[in-house]
Amino acid sequence: MPQLSNENRIDIKSLLPDEIKQSFSDLSLPSYRAKQVFSWLCRGVDDFALMTDISKDLANTLNEKYEIKTCKIAKKFCSQLDDTVKYLFELNDGELIESVVMKYKHGYSICISTQIGCKMGCSFCASGLNGFVRNLYPSEMLSQITAAQHDLDIRISNIVLMGMGEPLDNFDNVVRFMKIVSNGDGLNIGLRHISLSTSGIVPKIYELSQLNLPITLSVSLHAPNDKIRSSIMKINNTYGVEELICACKKYFERTGRRISYEYAIIKDVNDTPECAKQLYELLNGTCAHINLIPANPVNENGYKTPNRENIAAFQNLLIKYGLNATIRRTLGRDINASCGQLRNRNKR
Ligand code: SAH
Ligand code: SF4
Repeated sequence: MPQLSNENRIDIKSLLPDEIKQSFSDLSLPSYRAKQVFSWLCRGVDDFALMTDISKDLANTLNEKYEIKTCKIAKKFCSQLDDTVKYLFELNDGELIESVVMKYKHGYSICISTQIGCKMGCSFCASGLNGFVRNLYPSEMLSQITAAQHDLDIRISNIVLMGMGEPLDNFDNVVRFMKIVSNGDGLNIGLRHISLSTSGIVPKIYELSQLNLPITLSVSLHAPNDKIRSSIMKINNTYGVEELICACKKYFERTGRRISYEYAIIKDVNDTPECAKQLYELLNGTCAHINLIPANPVNENGYKTPNRENIAAFQNLLIKYGLNATIRRTLGRDINASCGQLRNRNKR
């Protein structure tokens, strides 16, 4: 059983059903109680007293031993252009995190945060501007989903770990979260419906490949060579482009899952025809998919997005080389602020 206690109470929403069962057996509670409570928690019921098949006495006992982590809505922004909703959530300790719900033809998708702040300090990103505060617990990742589902009265079918934070820098909690969220007695969101985005922590990519989870791995490449990548992503000084691509090839070999490369296209930084050519030389034959993201300008960094025609020209060059490249649709443009900006503004 992991050490997940906080204020001397156990963080019950970070436990899997079998672990709740084990913990309940210490209180001489029958095993069916674990399934009941797990199912309530996954449905977003954040108070034992509101679980209607649990007596008042039992609710009090559980409340003494277990803490239920929650996401309270601090702010909510609804797009006027599409159905995108952006939340600023307040956690039990008062910290703020962001999540975004997007509507697609196939259903609802949520982009969740995995850390408060980020250590990686990529120069184009708002999430790391104020440094790193702490990792999120599995329960706090789950709560972003249950709170949004409850608020919008919807069922979310896809999860992207692309909000604030570096998921592979919070490896154990993220893996645990994925097990909880895909559990059949809970939200039952299949691992194939989960995408994890990483800035490229190479040893963790190898570790993840060993788990052989059928998730989609997205790698934030953003540059085809060490010179440019190191100038915008500090992590490239530790794990260079070649080492990263080698890990990605091994990941594909081991899991059979095609990797998606994120490429935030920034004017006069990584948008030249030479960059497209180098990208081809790097990824040729890897079965990869390249997702071009129009860079979201963050006040503090002065980066600009190329205009639409230039982004399309870059994409066409990649396609001409035989690469599989798409441009990410930007949803909720009117309420946007790339991830991390909302929290930064509210902190100030
Ligand atoms: N830390 C992880 C996941 C969170 S960031 C990672 O870096 O992959 C999610 C994605 O948003 C990453 O691809 C990241 O590079 C991208 N991103 C961050 N700031 C951006 C910005 N200002 N414009 C466009 N994409 C951005
Ligand atoms: Fe962290 Fe990802 Fe932002 Fe880089 S892009 S600072 S890794 S959240």
